[in-house]
Amino acid sequence: MTNATEFLGRVVGGFLRDKEGQFFCSECLAEHAAEHIGSGKAQARGVIDAMFKYAREGTGLFEHMPVWPCDRCAVTNPCIGFRAT
Ligand SMILES: [Zn+2]
Repeated sequence: MTNATEFLGRVVGGFLRDKEGQFFCSECLAEHAAEHIGSGKAQARGVIDAMFKYAREGTGLFEHMPVWPCDRCAVTNPCIGFRAT
């Protein structure tokens, strides 16, 4: 992991923790990351895809919703979010 991807992961993870109980699609998370870091969306997308993969496998910090109306764009898509246990 490079510093840039680690930083991206922390920004997206922090956003999800702040929005606890809400779930977002990869498109919205990539947009959020690009807005806040000024990184390319493609680079953010790589990090977010990995987060979705971990969430699907149940190995990440975040929960995966296969079918969810995104809490930002309202489009039904696979979403991830943070739910405190
Ligand atoms: Zn969305």
